[in-house]
Parts: sequence; C-alpha cells; structure tokens
Amino acid sequence: MECNKELNYLDHRQSMEALGVELCAKHKKRIDRLIRTNKTPVAAVQLYYALKVAGESPMLEWWDGKKFVDLSFSRVKLNIEIDDKYEKLTHDNAVDYLQESMHSFKNGFTTIKVPHTLVKHYLKETVKNIIGIIGELKAQVKI
Ligand SMILES: [Zn+2]
Repeated sequence: MECNKELNYLDHRQSMEALGVELCAKHKKRIDRLIRTNKTPVAAVQLYYALKVAGESPMLEWWDGKKFVDLSFSRVKLNIEIDDKYEKLTHDNAVDYLQESMHSFKNGFTTIKVPHTLVKHYLKETVKNIIGIIGELKAQVKI
C-alpha cells in the first residue's frame, strides 16, 4: 500500500493480521518500529493509510514541539489523536493531557480525539468526517 510492491502470500497475511493494512516487509518493519518506540496505536496506522487512500496526506507521529501527535494535517492545523491511551486515565495523565491541549491550542491547532473503536468499526465514516473537517478548516483559512 505504501510502495506498490507485489506482496507474497506470507507478507500479505502477516501485515493484515498485525496491522489490518497491506504493507511490504520493509514498510511493515518501519511501522512496527514506530509502534514500538512511540506506542502508536494500530488504529492510527489504519486511519493513516485509509486517509492516504482517500487522497489526503496526513503525517503519522508528527512532532509538534512538545509531543508526538498520532496523525496531523499541519497545513490546516488539525491534529488527530486516537483515543486509547487514556482509557485508564490517571491523575497525572489528565494533567499531561490538559497541558498538551493547551500547547496545541496556543499554536492554533484543532485537536480531535477519535475513539479507536470508531476506526475499527466505522472506518469509512470516520475518514469521510475527517475529510469534511479538513474541508471546513481549509475554507476558514481562505477567509
Ligand atoms: Zn512497501
């Protein structure tokens, strides 16, 4: 999906089982490393590729100067966080989250939180809605 390389059966199966996305061994390794180092939710990877297929160009694990954002459209200042990190919200997590929100807001970014179950069960609708939001943000930038 990333490079149009023909996948053999094993590569295809391994990638689909682990990520739900068709990636060649080389690109899968790259994503696996990202998941390990950044704790990238698998749903973020799925949403990233679904948005790319739909013609958008998100950035995966974008560094905003303070933290890595799951998905970002920096041109329209839209951040998307997959909501599974804060399932069991501790006091410290909550304070961190507030501070991160404030940082994004100061930089003019809109942050939307997408529950990982939405990506799992309603991927098409999720992509459609995000594209709608991008459209609105683009329109606002023009005004
Ligand atoms: Zn590839």
